[in-house]
Amino acid sequence: MKERSKKPWVKIRRILIVAILLGVVLAMAVYFIWLKDYQKEALLKVGYNETTIETLRAQLPDADEEAQIEELLLLPYQADLDSFLKHPDFRPENLLKYLNYISDLDHYRVSAIVYLVNQGISQPYSDLLAALISQPYFVPARLERYLVYDNSKAPAVIIQEVNCNLDRPYYEDPQPVDLAKDNLLLVNKYCYFDSEYAPENLVAIAAEYDNNTGDKVRPEVYEAFKTMADAAANEGLALGNNSAYRSYETQQKLYERYLVTNGKEYAEEFSARAGFSEHQAGLALDLGVPTGAVVGKFEDTAEFAWLEQNAHHFGFILRYPAGKEHLTGYHYEPWHYRYVGLEVAEYIHEHKLTLEEYYAVFIEGQ
Ligand SMILES: [Zn+2]
Repeated sequence: MKERSKKPWVKIRRILIVAILLGVVLAMAVYFIWLKDYQKEALLKVGYNETTIETLRAQLPDADEEAQIEELLLLPYQADLDSFLKHPDFRPENLLKYLNYISDLDHYRVSAIVYLVNQGISQPYSDLLAALISQPYFVPARLERYLVYDNSKAPAVIIQEVNCNLDRPYYEDPQPVDLAKDNLLLVNKYCYFDSEYAPENLVAIAAEYDNNTGDKVRPEVYEAFKTMADAAANEGLALGNNSAYRSYETQQKLYERYLVTNGKEYAEEFSARAGFSEHQAGLALDLGVPTGAVVGKFEDTAEFAWLEQNAHHFGFILRYPAGKEHLTGYHYEPWHYRYVGLEVAEYIHEHKLTLEEYYAVFIEGQ
């Protein structure tokens, strides 16, 4: 009996606790409804219309909604709020950053602001900046360099030339070749090989593919070259190697011969300094017809015309094309082909890029 007499008290206590909890929940609900209403009124007062307020609420995560709107209410009316909210790259956590970024601007592109804030780019807004970031080959890591480059040039040209490092003098502070990039490594007047560097597993080019050089090349390059030469042969054309892998010492002798015979300007344009030659990579082939046609005339051969149409189908690119001399740093070389693999060769060919341009955008830092 004693135990039973306790029970009603226990019951009452439970009921009280539940009632208090319910009361708290109800009060909170009322508060939030009131707050939402209050915020809506405030937003309307600032100048936003019902549709924009609905979009705003739909875009903000529930947990942050009230706090973000509270901060938004501290800012003056932004006519472009709706455009930001509807931009495909809009990020709710950046809402206030977009609006703060534009607060002092009299003109801007919403998509540029969204991109800059999303990328964490803090440079002051300018038309040049907006134009640069909308270029297809814009590399965010090079932004500072684009901005201080010759701004009398078109944005696309600034991007292209800085991607090829033309804002830096040749051979000044050169970087070691990034060997980890393997078939896609870049060697030019900005990147060099050590004097001891030689690729592993070089293979000798068989006589039927070689114009009496006895040269070697990387195995994957050799396989691709044989397939390409066989395909050309099926069309009655003969492609042979005139020069493949060259050691540092060989390149040194070659460059010095140019230097003595033709002078420095010519040597720089037609030959690489030792350590700076693509031939040291074992990824390049100078091609010719087996009759020993003069290299300078290779451009006039049916073999060259065929290569122009087909080399990329076998993973090779014309490495130093006409009209791109200022980008590659070398005179047009119709005979010099570089192996980069099928996919990259197709892309470079289709988009008419140099390896320098492709490398800056798609390989460096990836
Ligand atoms: Zn060459």
